[in-house]
Amino acid sequence: MEPKATNMAEPKKKLSKSRTGRRKSHQALKKQNLSKCPKCNAIKLPHHVCSTCGYYNDEQIINFDKKDKK
Ligand SMILES: [Zn+2]
Repeated sequence: MEPKATNMAEPKKKLSKSRTGRRKSHQALKKQNLSKCPKCNAIKLPHHVCSTCGYYNDEQIINFDKKDKK
């Protein structure tokens, strides 16, 4: 049998569970920062137009009531 012809780098040793766990300990997702809409009290993202009423800074940006009739 001929020796395996490969130029790929291969890990010399299997990584231990604790080493894998140490690496993965920094991979958790951060909790999303949420704020309340002052107009309708719905939960919305800060510095974003409210997706429930369409208001931002007491100004209507998006009008959800209008429906295009075609
Ligand atoms: Zn709102």
